[in-house]
Amino acid sequence: MRTIGLEEHFVTPELVAYGASTSTVAKPQAWADASRRLLDLFDERIDLMDSTGLDVQVLSLNSPGLQAETDADVAVDSARTVNDFLAGVVQRRPDRFAGFAALPLQDPQRAAAELERAVVQLGFHGALVNAHTNGMYLDHPSQRVVWEKAAELDVPIYLHPANGVDLADTFSGHPELVGPMWSWGLDTATHTLRLIFGKVFDDIPEAKLLLGHMGEGLPYALWRLDSRWDFHNHHGIELDLGYPSEYLRRNLYITTSGVCDAAPLSSALMALGPEHILLGTDYPFEEMAATTDFIRSVDIDEDTRHAIAHGNAERLLRLPAPGK
Ligand code: MN
Repeated sequence: MRTIGLEEHFVTPELVAYGASTSTVAKPQAWADASRRLLDLFDERIDLMDSTGLDVQVLSLNSPGLQAETDADVAVDSARTVNDFLAGVVQRRPDRFAGFAALPLQDPQRAAAELERAVVQLGFHGALVNAHTNGMYLDHPSQRVVWEKAAELDVPIYLHPANGVDLADTFSGHPELVGPMWSWGLDTATHTLRLIFGKVFDDIPEAKLLLGHMGEGLPYALWRLDSRWDFHNHHGIELDLGYPSEYLRRNLYITTSGVCDAAPLSSALMALGPEHILLGTDYPFEEMAATTDFIRSVDIDEDTRHAIAHGNAERLLRLPAPGK
């Protein structure tokens, strides 16, 4: 069975400072291993792909990536540099790698232009964005141009976590809760709900949003969201489709990255349907073998297994079949 992973991180020596958002919570050896593996593309990574049976990695710049840059001009230049670098990586091993673009959202117009260049000229399959950009979220009106461009190109935008611009008081005194173990999922799920209630998907119904980590808890929440939206006075917001779950079922695609667990997969399958779930490893922060073992052994029907492992990615990203 072919396997295609969609949350597969790397960093370049020049951009390594952008990639350190989890260094404060990782054990020293775990961080050292991840840091080494982020920089490696053709040696340890390919060996692990071979030994664990991961056929293709859709690569993306590690979190927080360009979102950590405060200067828009620097972000635009860095985006071109890193996307050109990634295109070279894919060109060297097109059988094993594909790319998601990094976007300089500090300047949405130029980010949209870079997305077009990355897809049309470099052959990328979408973009990956790490949470907020200097406190600006993807529902900000200035970012509609990026969503419009993604819809025009028919590529997804992958919303990946990073440290939030702010933290609720409930985290005070508990730094262990801040980071990928807990706060990132809340931040990313909330960001996604901003897109729904900020009417991004009403304005651009064709938009395709990808989330990792089995949907950051959202597949579990559909009924509750709809029920409480019925109770709610709506603060003047009306959704064209009526209920938040309609957007999560239509516009949202999720990956299994970092969640190798049958119970949340079962919930996601029931909530979103098998055509909206794709494979991801979260390498190098998770072991590839955990993901490939999981998708090969989890108790689901074979059509669903193939859809998650490769079929949905081939369709959503228009990835070429092997050997092409
Ligand atoms: Mn990740």
